[in-house]
Amino acid sequence: MPCAMSGAGGALGKPRRSGAARARSIRERFAPSGEGVAASRGELGSELTPPTAICVPRTPTPPPHCAPRIAMASSNMLIVWDFDWSLINENTDTFVVQQLDPSGDVWRRGKQKMQQGVGWTELMDWALGELRYDQPALDAALSAIPITDGARRAVQSARAAGAEQRILSDANSHYIATVLAAHGHADAFTRIETNPAEFADGRLRVRPHQPDGAPHGSALCPPNLCKGTVLDRWIAELQPARVIYVGDGSGDYCPATRLRPGDVLLARRAPHDGLLKKCRANPAAVRAEVVEWDDSDGGASLLAGIERALSAAVPEGVAALSAAVPDGVAASVG
Ligand SMILES: [Mg+2]
Repeated sequence: MPCAMSGAGGALGKPRRSGAARARSIRERFAPSGEGVAASRGELGSELTPPTAICVPRTPTPPPHCAPRIAMASSNMLIVWDFDWSLINENTDTFVVQQLDPSGDVWRRGKQKMQQGVGWTELMDWALGELRYDQPALDAALSAIPITDGARRAVQSARAAGAEQRILSDANSHYIATVLAAHGHADAFTRIETNPAEFADGRLRVRPHQPDGAPHGSALCPPNLCKGTVLDRWIAELQPARVIYVGDGSGDYCPATRLRPGDVLLARRAPHDGLLKKCRANPAAVRAEVVEWDDSDGGASLLAGIERALSAAVPEGVAALSAAVPDGVAASVG
């Protein structure tokens, strides 16, 4: 039977905590020993400075009220979630600016800066210095971010099945921690890699995931984050039998090329189809099965795609390919 959703906090069988407590729990996933959010880039685990202690032990036993829907044990599967327009049904960056500045003035000036060549992460850091807010106001705006019922249930179902779930995002650590806490998913993800963010001098500061002056070298990715490099590291670390990657934008294309035969790419349809367009334009570069989805059905197609990927048999030999795949594929499409 499907796991019944009981609203934020209750679905994963955990005691309800305050929003601040849930956000703290998520932030501890970025750094060991409760050191706070991303005090250094190394704590976010860039490829130049491997993380030290990020993964949080998590019981493989599903909550007693929520029986697994997946027949096959999925404990050696990795689900990688992009965040904006993938796990959540919005873009956190633009949503926050619109919520905190209904006049549109900051966004208009931001567009001018973009036309002058300012990169996205730098632009968002600038915007957060122009907006007027305190942390409660910012967190209240973030808490209003929508998640489809299908994505909600997919997170719950994958967790009940024992799959490891991680987030790989070009948003920022504060946004993601706050949204997950607000939606009761604070304990569902064992690792989150994104741009580090922290409050300083009464405002949120956002820094690039990729250290300044240390380019990642991928022509497919923005300068601040190469998701393909992170995914390579995760595959080498976990050696999962299958990777299930959920994405929508062009920034998800590089990791899509690193997926192996037997992996599954859930690519969102239009209008958030930057990833799908690139996959269609370069069909030989993506060796994973591509499954399309959108939110017109409330995320039911996303849920079905993930549950099928969790339960389908893994072709023999897939695990042995994991160490040999990424470089050659990336070079062929770069
Ligand atoms: Mg996205």
